[in-house]
Amino acid sequence: MTEAGDRRLWNAHVETLGPAELRTLESERLAAQIAYNHRTSPFLAARLDEAGVRPDEIRTVDDLARIPFTEKAEIAASQRDGDVLGANRCAPLADVVRIQGTGGTTGQPLRIGFTRRDVQGYCEMGARALWAMGCRPTDVVFTCMNFSLYAGGLSDHLTFETVGAATIPYGVGQSERLVRMMAAIAGPVGVWATPSYAVRLADVAAEIGLEPRDLGIAKGFFSGEAGLQVPGYRERIEQLFGLAARDMYGTAELGLHSGECEQLQGLHYGGSGFAVVELIDPDSGAVLPFADGQRGEAVYTSIRREASPLQRMRSHDLLQVFTEPCACGRTSFRFAALGRSDEMFIVKGVNVFPLGIQTSLTALAPRVTGEFRVVLDRPPPIDYAVPVEVEVARGVAAVDHDALAREVAGRLARDLNFASAVTLVPQGTIASERKTRRVVRAYRGEQP
Ligand SMILES: [Zn+2]
Repeated sequence: MTEAGDRRLWNAHVETLGPAELRTLESERLAAQIAYNHRTSPFLAARLDEAGVRPDEIRTVDDLARIPFTEKAEIAASQRDGDVLGANRCAPLADVVRIQGTGGTTGQPLRIGFTRRDVQGYCEMGARALWAMGCRPTDVVFTCMNFSLYAGGLSDHLTFETVGAATIPYGVGQSERLVRMMAAIAGPVGVWATPSYAVRLADVAAEIGLEPRDLGIAKGFFSGEAGLQVPGYRERIEQLFGLAARDMYGTAELGLHSGECEQLQGLHYGGSGFAVVELIDPDSGAVLPFADGQRGEAVYTSIRREASPLQRMRSHDLLQVFTEPCACGRTSFRFAALGRSDEMFIVKGVNVFPLGIQTSLTALAPRVTGEFRVVLDRPPPIDYAVPVEVEVARGVAAVDHDALAREVAGRLARDLNFASAVTLVPQGTIASERKTRRVVRAYRGEQP
């Protein structure tokens, strides 16, 4: 028997499937799932019936496009009647063992159920992601996320246990105690947190006279924020602590499913056999070719889910996918998360993503804090200079503000190809809690 820590991939069979084998697996499971959905959820059945599609006509992944989309808002609406899981509940409550809810800044919270088999699936996907990120059974990992309704708490925590890491459920808060506990452990430790919380830990360490490297954090598993994708941020955290930082990704509905391998060429999709991902044009809903470099909104369809299956559920998350082989040996597609489709806006045919603005502002640090907000005060088409509020650092003299605002606007025009009307606002003005709304559509009554 080999040591569990020796193997290169968590699930070598599934993670190295060729395209034809993967397609066969997905098609078989899709057909079974759609038949199950039709049998057990009147809502999901009606979706097919209205489109004139019989469940036995869904035989391969090519047939997916015949199934109408579902929206999270529809499921959330069906839960407002008091039904604990709502219209896509397909398993009896006796079989449901966990309910998690969505976070996010928009829409109604959504309750999502898991059976025992669903939980196993969640842990399997998460373990593939964590293994790719370098998590091993020999690791000691502090999990520092909020153990709440949110799936990125308890459920993700359990994926670390699935890998076999010695997992310490720390949660959030009591940061000084955490720092002391880390420093008291002689060997290296790992941490799962948001990137900004890691930076905070460095400050907490300094307050009690410790260097960040005294904490012995060798591995950082990061989620909950797009921080690591901002140029320079990963390097900053890695150098601060002397750790290897890896990004992970999931959605509340599907679970933690993807993580970066050591090649750092995007997030490896770890949900093969559990959910099929399509890309669509967020405006027209047209299915886009799943080709290297393609950008689009992810649409998820569960193919092995009992309690709350996703049936062509729109995520409103924009991804860019990479389908070229990865040197690590995994055959799954990789992707970059570009942000919410409702946070993207189009200026004269150019798609602008908040992450792009954040990246441009990084080049102007430390004169700007990196916090910003776009306020769209008129409906599309956007043929005007886009109002952007940008936080100016405290140390910048007022006399220099006009020139800095012009510099920011010039930077955005050069990097992202759109005209902006930049207003500098004082540091601390734009809320920096976990999920700040970056694009406010004031023309339809949205508030910052
Ligand atoms: Zn790889």
